[in-house]
Amino acid sequence: MDNKTNLLHPRAEQHSKFWQNAHAYFDTVYTTANLDPIWRPYLASPKRVLAVSCPIKMDDGRIQVFTGYRAQHNNARGPFKGGIRYDVSVDRDEVMALAMLQTWKNALVDLPFGGAKGGIVCDPKKLSMGEKERLTRRFTSEIMPIIGPNQDIPAPDAGTDGQIMAWILDTYSMMVGYQALGVVTGKPVSVGGSVGREEATGRGVMNILRKFLATQNKQIEGTRVAIQGFGNVGSHTARLLAGRGAIIVAITERSSGIFDESGIDIEAATKYYRENGTLADFPGADAITNEELLTCDCDVLIPAAMENTIDAAIAPHIQAHVVVEAANGPTTPEADAILREEGITVLPDILANAGGVTVSYFEWVQGLDNYFWDLKQVQDELQKVMEKAFDAVNAKADEADCDYRTAAYMIAISRVTEACKIKGLFP
Ligand code: GLU
Repeated sequence: MDNKTNLLHPRAEQHSKFWQNAHAYFDTVYTTANLDPIWRPYLASPKRVLAVSCPIKMDDGRIQVFTGYRAQHNNARGPFKGGIRYDVSVDRDEVMALAMLQTWKNALVDLPFGGAKGGIVCDPKKLSMGEKERLTRRFTSEIMPIIGPNQDIPAPDAGTDGQIMAWILDTYSMMVGYQALGVVTGKPVSVGGSVGREEATGRGVMNILRKFLATQNKQIEGTRVAIQGFGNVGSHTARLLAGRGAIIVAITERSSGIFDESGIDIEAATKYYRENGTLADFPGADAITNEELLTCDCDVLIPAAMENTIDAAIAPHIQAHVVVEAANGPTTPEADAILREEGITVLPDILANAGGVTVSYFEWVQGLDNYFWDLKQVQDELQKVMEKAFDAVNAKADEADCDYRTAAYMIAISRVTEACKIKGLFP
């Protein structure tokens, strides 16, 4: 097929900035790492992207049609694996870019998975529970031909949670006629989920930051941290860092934020946010915007929201010495270059936020075995995986005299290329 008519090919049309960004990192590393060029076009495109229409009966009797996607990037190392997000910004390019990042992430922490990502274009906050359930069940049945415990295993991402994973599990299981625990991860513990999965991304962020600080003879205690995003990832990261003595000076969510130089009481802020749905007017703290948070006076900045939040306009004003990417793709390549010039260390997404998918892997293994671990085992095994990945990236960065992102991509892309090469092409 001619590239111009191949919709999955990166240069076939004007793709969104995020898809281009994912390629910018991939292209740079593919060239610098001297990888076998023969596999480059194969790795540059997703293997499959499924777009589906999900007609749903709304509570008021109307029928509304929602668009959903599942992008599967590469499965040379194992079944596809990656989250499903519910957000108004979801589009085909976004899930393609996120699926590619997921391939690198899964390879970097050495999981036996390829990368995928999916999503539904919707505002989950505006849907009732009933509407959300009908939408999730319909979407599951639409993507049913390409998911399964040995094919593609979804998980939570922005705007989705354990309840949604339970509906995916149930819909899939009803359709195949038996309980298929391995079809989805991030399930509630009561239906075969893993203890420690919910906090896993935040715990992994904490593990990676602690390891990095140790290389600088520093520790978490007393470090001043600003966190953008107070959803699953941001809130657990804040709790775990505060529990180890970090001073959380600022947190924001989509439309509100707070700053307190002496450190925010995270437990109180979490309770307040849960009860009020906003951080606005949280007692004793000053109001702060998302932009002010990114440029506030702190040691460590943790973007834990959406992609492209640190761009070339904001990067020169960042005061933190370290950026830990708890979100996927929060830094644009232009901003990344500026941060590097300024001497700011970036701990890249595919390393920093890999804790979630790592415990998803543990959950998948437990579900297939029908044998469940205790919390200590999950936390200890997660720490081992995260620390091993950090050590590998740190050593590669030293050896190749490069930044952490380049080092992480070099390791991940080499592993995927190696798997492609050994397996060869079918037919
Ligand atoms: N959505 C998470 C991520 O971006 C988790 C994916 C998974 O557990 O499969 O890594």
